[in-house]
Amino acid sequence: MEKVILIRYGEIHLKGQNRPYFERVLLNNIKRALKDISGVKVLKAQGRFYVENYSDEAAVVDALTRVFGIVSISPAYKLDKDFDTITQYAQMIMKDFIANSQKDVLTFKVESRRADKKFPMDSMTISRELGGRLLRQFPELKVDVHNPDMVLNVEVREYTYIYHEMIPCAGGMPVGTNGKAALLLSGGIDSPVAGWMIAKRGVALTAVHFHSFPYTSDRSKEKVIELARILTRYCGSIRLHVVPFTRIQQELYEKCPDEQLTILMRRSMMKIAQEVAKREGAAALITGESIGQVASQTVDSLVVTNAAVAMPVFRPLIGFDKIDIMNIASNIGTYETSILPYEDCCTVFTPRHPATHPRLEKIIKSEQLIDEEVLIKEALENIEVIEL
Ligand code: ATP
Ligand code: MG
Repeated sequence: MEKVILIRYGEIHLKGQNRPYFERVLLNNIKRALKDISGVKVLKAQGRFYVENYSDEAAVVDALTRVFGIVSISPAYKLDKDFDTITQYAQMIMKDFIANSQKDVLTFKVESRRADKKFPMDSMTISRELGGRLLRQFPELKVDVHNPDMVLNVEVREYTYIYHEMIPCAGGMPVGTNGKAALLLSGGIDSPVAGWMIAKRGVALTAVHFHSFPYTSDRSKEKVIELARILTRYCGSIRLHVVPFTRIQQELYEKCPDEQLTILMRRSMMKIAQEVAKREGAAALITGESIGQVASQTVDSLVVTNAAVAMPVFRPLIGFDKIDIMNIASNIGTYETSILPYEDCCTVFTPRHPATHPRLEKIIKSEQLIDEEVLIKEALENIEVIEL
């Protein structure tokens, strides 16, 4: 007997000819997610992945739930193909299940699959025989084929696998199968969620953060590093580009109309991020913007911000309410870090009455009041790169 974890993957089945490629990327991502767990082996057999040879099951399960492309996993017993052995483990699983339940009567069904046609019992017979033996041993059990408390799965393949838990995982597609995009990562709640959503669709991330030292502290930078680190648990390594943004902000502050500051800043961020993206081989930008959330996210403001760059900008949260974004942030584990109260570069230079309906021609005129090209070049030259 050995304990293993069965891994099910979803959408990559849809990809026809690309399937071997998607499987290869997913397998690599699984191995990377488990690399710190000693001894663990990841195998592919008969169109499925298995994890074997681990001592800390909880750690393996925890890591696998975050790998995009995995739909669900099941910790299972891997047994010889012998019906008495199967019965023995089925009884053990059932005993545990009953002990952990509050109910007086428990319903169950056995679901069997026989991939190995040489096994002498067909799937119907396995289910019926095993169900019968369990009913005889545990008087608190009843069969319910429609809505049971527990489904006991028996799969007879090269070995027999028996399990009842089906742990839902992140879903989505393997990171790296859909190119790369540059995430504008602030220390707020929204942008980590936006990055997570795009990574979930198989897109690898590179991150860009604008830092306004000394207006923003080292602690606020640490916070962003921590957010990026949390994202790496889902999408593997991330190169975080910390861009010194103070000079540009000061120039804008001194030379441009106060009410335009936010939108001007947003446009410089987009332009710089686009350059970083090009260097990194990323084809699109990602932001955490959502319509109407703040003055710089009215439809008119978004239009003007968008016009700063030629690259497509992915805004996965565009139609989300804040509360829904907060819920995702909690689920993926970024929320607690995002709400730490360190200052953000945008809050330092925020105008008292930001324009909510900026006009592109006016904004472009204001941009000519500073030496934007030189300032952007200087910012790009002084980027600090942090590998996570
Ligand atoms: P968030 O919670 O992500 O900070 P927000 O609601 O505070 O978003 P804004 O401050 O208007 O919104 O920023 C909109 C988007 O611009 C952010 O989601 C992020 O993608 C990007 N952004 C803002 N500030 C920064 C920054 N300092 N560094 C990198 N990107 C930033
Ligand atoms: Mg913000």
